[in-house]
Amino acid sequence: MIKVENLHKTFGRLEVLKGITTTIDDGAVVAIIGPSGSGKSTFLRCLNKLEEPTEGRIWIGEDEITDPKTNIMKVRQRIGMVFQHFHLFPHMTVLENLTYAPIKVKGMPKAEAEKKARDLLDKVGLLNKANEYPNRLSGGQKQRVAIARALAMEPEAMLFDEPTSALDPEMVKEVLDVMKSLAHTGMTMAIVTHEMGFAREVADRVLFLDEGVLVEDAPPNEFFTNPKSARAKAFLEKVL
Ligand code: ADP
Ligand code: MG
Repeated sequence: MIKVENLHKTFGRLEVLKGITTTIDDGAVVAIIGPSGSGKSTFLRCLNKLEEPTEGRIWIGEDEITDPKTNIMKVRQRIGMVFQHFHLFPHMTVLENLTYAPIKVKGMPKAEAEKKARDLLDKVGLLNKANEYPNRLSGGQKQRVAIARALAMEPEAMLFDEPTSALDPEMVKEVLDVMKSLAHTGMTMAIVTHEMGFAREVADRVLFLDEGVLVEDAPPNEFFTNPKSARAKAFLEKVL
């Protein structure tokens, strides 16, 4: 589904990604972990070209997004993204947040978009908030709306950048639970996270990034019980 070959990204003279090669299979859930500043967000943002790769190639399905001829706006519609800070539209109700892009971008009829939005809100446990504005919601509720909004575009894959890092501790679980059910539907997911328990339980693979290098790429059990590199060992000692 997602294939990355020798991905490099530099900002000025800072080389943030130093030749990353990996694939994410259809339906796989991949947790991306590593120290702050190791390039996790940059990696994720390259996957839908929110950052322009400096070198290397990336495929989303059949489409090579690093090919200048590829219409990136079209490909982006197929990839949902969820950020640490929600990025909801503050002047729209929850329902409008979910229906806006399907109507505007996909040309979905309003009634259909609203029906789909309500189904999704029901799935994330927020049907009763359909007519609220985002500022009336808790952080955990906002993030569940953000996930539902991304799903409203019927994406083939979902990218999450630290979706629970801005939440109060008591709200982390409700968001992780939504992500867990999504994983069980077979959605392809790449998740930057510091939630090691979640990574261990839900991910099919862990990618450990350190200083722009993909140091380990292993099933969670292997990674957490028997990390191969000194860097991963040192990281795990700090966070576990
Ligand atoms: P992580 O998500 O693992 O914490 P990031 O991908 O956000 O790491 O950042 C990796 C490095 O790239 C950091 O040193 C960061 O300061 C730098 N960086 C990220 N985005 C930019 C940017 N737009 N311009 C310059 N430097 C950046
Ligand atoms: Mg980051």
